[in-house]
Amino acid sequence: MDEKQENKLEQIIKYDEEYYMPVFGQRIPLVADHGKGVYLYGTDGKKYMDMIGGIAVNILGHGNSRLVRAISSQAKKVIHCCNYYYNEPQTMLAKKLVDMSFADKVFFANSGAEANEGAIKLARGYWSKKGTPKPKIITAKMSFHGRTLATIAATGQEKFRVPFAPVMPGFEYVPFNDIEAIKNTADAQTGAIMLELIQGESGVHPADFDYIQEVRKFCTQNKILLIIDEVQTGVGHTGTFFAYEQFGIQPDILTLAKGLAGGVPIGAVLANKMAATGFGVGDHGSTFGGNPLACAAGLAVIEEIESKNLLGNVMNVGGYIQKKLSNIAKKTKKIAEVRGKGLLIGIELDSGSAADVKMKLFEKGFLVSSIGSNVIRIAPPLNLSKLQAIKFTSALQDVLEGKE
Ligand SMILES: *Cc1c(COP(=O)(O)O)cnc(C)c1O
Repeated sequence: MDEKQENKLEQIIKYDEEYYMPVFGQRIPLVADHGKGVYLYGTDGKKYMDMIGGIAVNILGHGNSRLVRAISSQAKKVIHCCNYYYNEPQTMLAKKLVDMSFADKVFFANSGAEANEGAIKLARGYWSKKGTPKPKIITAKMSFHGRTLATIAATGQEKFRVPFAPVMPGFEYVPFNDIEAIKNTADAQTGAIMLELIQGESGVHPADFDYIQEVRKFCTQNKILLIIDEVQTGVGHTGTFFAYEQFGIQPDILTLAKGLAGGVPIGAVLANKMAATGFGVGDHGSTFGGNPLACAAGLAVIEEIESKNLLGNVMNVGGYIQKKLSNIAKKTKKIAEVRGKGLLIGIELDSGSAADVKMKLFEKGFLVSSIGSNVIRIAPPLNLSKLQAIKFTSALQDVLEGKE
């Protein structure tokens, strides 16, 4: 690194400390400059294989030409037009998502938390419009649904809620993958159950197939809405466009965000005809939500996934990585468990600190995330090649074996 660049890195870190709210603590010393494909480059010119993809957001990697073309041509036409008017990308992205899914109606927001806010509100609206308010929502312990006040209330982890009490009432938390706990908790006031199919933020813990089947059955029998939070699992990371496709069920309400527009902020609430009646005229809205720029990006992301068969690639390359990691686990005895589906993978370390492994990988030019003390998470772009997967897994093996 030349001196000028080094000073720049130091200056940004110093300014961040001075001017930015300290919620991210000490960050990894990388100032993102630009990217190409799976690689992200720092302002110092260093190249990193981006195996976390902006936390499951950069689904086409960096600088994807279809996505860049869609964004720039839409920006030249119109970036924002308010929801007093119609805009074609918004309508066409809603139609596309309906065509691809269980859903009959869509609403666009700007983030995952905002999409979940919409889903919670829709469920409550549904029951009060029927004249039988059922405000209670059951969620899972160790879940993550966002950082806004309603979504921290939905999140089954105390550390996110306690400092910001009083939280919004009406949520009850049950252990994940435990159908009896749901049966024992639900009552006549329970209007919805809200779950992730893979708990991403708490360490990549997948739901059991049978559990989700039972939850669906229980919801149908007891007239409870099933909300599935696919903010992280949606848009292909698990090998199907929606993760619910692999659980043999259909939710009533589903949320998307992270990868949907390949990096442009967006969120979406999808609902079947019945649940969608929870919102009537004037019940919900968003100034930015469904703006033409984000929706044009969303359409380009889906076109690229379909035309390049990226879901097939996720199955192939994800399967390869999982197999390779199991081999590394056997060989090194440093990995306790490999979890996840497709290219959303959690690697639980047997010993040693995940933060240390993350930093050693960073020094070798690979970006991953660490969760808690002992889980490494990867959620790379869906177009990761097998060769890149090989480079990553062998770098990880070297780190675990203590090779320089
Ligand atoms: C990331 C995430 C959210 C929150 O999304 P934001 O865009 O950060 O608000 C909600 N639910 C799940 C499952 C997530 O992974």
